[in-house]
Amino acid sequence: MPTQVHLFDFTRSELETFVRELGEPRYRADQIWEWLYLHLVDSFDQMTNLSLELRDQLSEIAVIHTIEPIAETDSQETPARKTLFQLEDGDGIEAVLMHYHSRDPDYSSKTAGEPLGTDASQDRARHTACISTQVGCAMGCVFCATGQMGLLRQMSAGEVIEQVVYLARELQYEGKRLTNLVFMGMGEPLANWPATSQAIETLNDADGFNMGARRMTVSTVGLPPGIRKLAQAGIQVRLAVSLHAPNDELRNQLVPINAQHPLSEVMDACREHLGSTSRRLTFEYVMIDHVNDFPKHAKELASLIEGLLCHVNLIPLNPTAGSDMRPSSYGRCVAFRGILQQHGIPTTLRGRRGTDVQAGCGQLRTRVEEGLVGRTIAAES
Ligand code: SAH
Ligand code: SF4
Repeated sequence: MPTQVHLFDFTRSELETFVRELGEPRYRADQIWEWLYLHLVDSFDQMTNLSLELRDQLSEIAVIHTIEPIAETDSQETPARKTLFQLEDGDGIEAVLMHYHSRDPDYSSKTAGEPLGTDASQDRARHTACISTQVGCAMGCVFCATGQMGLLRQMSAGEVIEQVVYLARELQYEGKRLTNLVFMGMGEPLANWPATSQAIETLNDADGFNMGARRMTVSTVGLPPGIRKLAQAGIQVRLAVSLHAPNDELRNQLVPINAQHPLSEVMDACREHLGSTSRRLTFEYVMIDHVNDFPKHAKELASLIEGLLCHVNLIPLNPTAGSDMRPSSYGRCVAFRGILQQHGIPTTLRGRRGTDVQAGCGQLRTRVEEGLVGRTIAAES
């Protein structure tokens, strides 16, 4: 059989072309788009307004499943579940579903990029999917399990989108809706611009998935060309920039790509993004004990970002097997936050949400490979 096409790989206009080439009227593309992105069906059989012949034909030439959930881990500490997916070529990637309630003290700050206080007065739950864009990552951040793998391959747009649809289906099954999306799993989304931008556009489509741009956050290690593309694409998604150090000397050690794109370039690109979107930026800062968590670092960080419309998320390090770095103590984190706040910078100290599900990116895959964690889904059925 010739290779089957993956329907999640198609943009809306590509789906129209595909449908036209099958000799079907254009509205069939709209119907299929709605089945995929509005009704979240998981088989062609469920596309009941298509003829039986067309459904049969589609199941021969097309697929809507290319990623297979093979293990999942529920957090015992917080409402979070991490799923390990196997891609068609056998590689593993991870996605996490996190649940927040407005009574949660961290509720208003948990989605990166969302300004403090947003929605806090409304008593409604938020369900956030954190998805991967690459198998591994080439950026080599020393504290990161994904970076320690290196880049194995890019993910396709369909593979990126399918993670979101899978998690949204999981929620739909429980009568809930996915409310937020963060590109913060394995990989560097701006180093896979084609898949990232297509996923944003597809999921944003008002006739389908309809995820508002403001509810999507792209987290980047800080690639200025990518940040500019995002700004110029005119999509109002939120941007989170992983800084982790306030000067080039220290950042070069923690985030090797900084040697190519030093902080001054990253900050210029951030200003450009702010100028074109007026969206508050988030800076992510992993707190590593006695490495980047001294008061002098907090002061330096404050002067680097002072005056920008931004918010800082301090994230205690999730230790990984590939590094002996440790998370900063609570006291050091609080002192660091205090200095930023004195400079008028809104700062959140994140709890170690989901550390027991290895919520630091790349960690579930690593632990499953080592046979240490994970309910194996296939073995249960
Ligand atoms: N490549 C992108 C997005 C994926 S990483 C980026 O770097 O932003 C998502 C976030 O997890 C980043 O802020 C990253 O620095 C952080 N992270 C990676 N490893 C971590 C660890 N071991 N502990 C805590 N945070 C980690
Ligand atoms: Fe890549 Fe982000 Fe991990 Fe750095 S932190 S290695 S950019 S996934």
